[in-house]
Amino acid sequence: DPDLMFIDTGIELPETLDNVRRVAQKHELTLNKREARSGYWKNVDYFGPSARDYRWCCKTCKLGPTSLLIEENYDDGVLSFIGQRRYESHQRMNQGSTWDNPWVPGQVSASPIQDWTALHVWLYLFSKDADWNEWYEKGFERIGCWVCPASDLAELDKLKEEFQEYERFEEVLEGYAKMKGLSERWIELGLWRWLDIPENMEELLEEDPEVVEYLQVEKSIEDMLEHERTRNLLNALCDVEDTLFEELDRDEIVRLHKKALNCVECGVCVGRCERDALFFEDGIKIDPDKCVHCGKCLGKCPVVHFNSRVLFRQLDE
Ligand code: SF4
Ligand code: SF4
Ligand code: SF4
Repeated sequence: DPDLMFIDTGIELPETLDNVRRVAQKHELTLNKREARSGYWKNVDYFGPSARDYRWCCKTCKLGPTSLLIEENYDDGVLSFIGQRRYESHQRMNQGSTWDNPWVPGQVSASPIQDWTALHVWLYLFSKDADWNEWYEKGFERIGCWVCPASDLAELDKLKEEFQEYERFEEVLEGYAKMKGLSERWIELGLWRWLDIPENMEELLEEDPEVVEYLQVEKSIEDMLEHERTRNLLNALCDVEDTLFEELDRDEIVRLHKKALNCVECGVCVGRCERDALFFEDGIKIDPDKCVHCGKCLGKCPVVHFNSRVLFRQLDE
């Protein structure tokens, strides 16, 4: 039998966790579960609330732990069957029914229900007398984490009414809005769900014009190289003791410096290292005795991927 893989992001509804347990029990599947090491609450101060165009949480709370789960349990990688459908979003519409995710090495994903409508899903569940998450009966169309920016306003209102812990997220939004000088309407209208507000919602912003602009800061390469953690991560590129830094790719040095300063310990890069050379010690570090400078860990990283947006938020404070 296949295993049931589940990542507990730490921001799941209790009913979701129950549903996963029930399904595993009913079908006698091994539940291979991992909790996000780098949880939402730990990182929201750094990243700010996640948004539809700024889903840092997916990387830190889902894809990183998935990468670690696969690396720890499945030497040959996995083929994952995922209940994802094309009608759920524009992005999913274009995805196809099989895909690789550059954030999760070792995983090929397939959705056997890619072309199903919601009606197909419900008819199938009824026909199999299957369990479902009871939040669907409250009118939810999709159930993700309860702080999810993909939620619609009606779903968020429902959560406010029925899920007491939602207050914690409201406090985060209120604190962030206060810090930015945003009005209450930014929360009421759910505008926190976008970093760059879509054009068709711009009229809602007439009373809240203080939104998104880009800022950039340059730091000198020399300063970066003085930084002990950055020097350690340079092992991914070269033997640090034996290399002239002029020979290295400056953009890559900048990316490593961002990791050295801001790593949120999501685990995405750890899953890529075949030498077990990466470890956490107040952020990511490389064991130079194990590292062979192959550069496989240099790919996707949420703090590099979202750096300019985080920087904008920080400089704007
Ligand atoms: S489901 Fe939503 S809140 Fe959860 S990780 Fe994905 S984008 Fe973030
Ligand atoms: S993947 Fe591992 S061995 Fe390769 S450069 Fe990174 S830390 Fe070193
Ligand atoms: S360096 Fe980046 S990818 Fe690696 S654990 Fe830290 S945040 Fe995640």
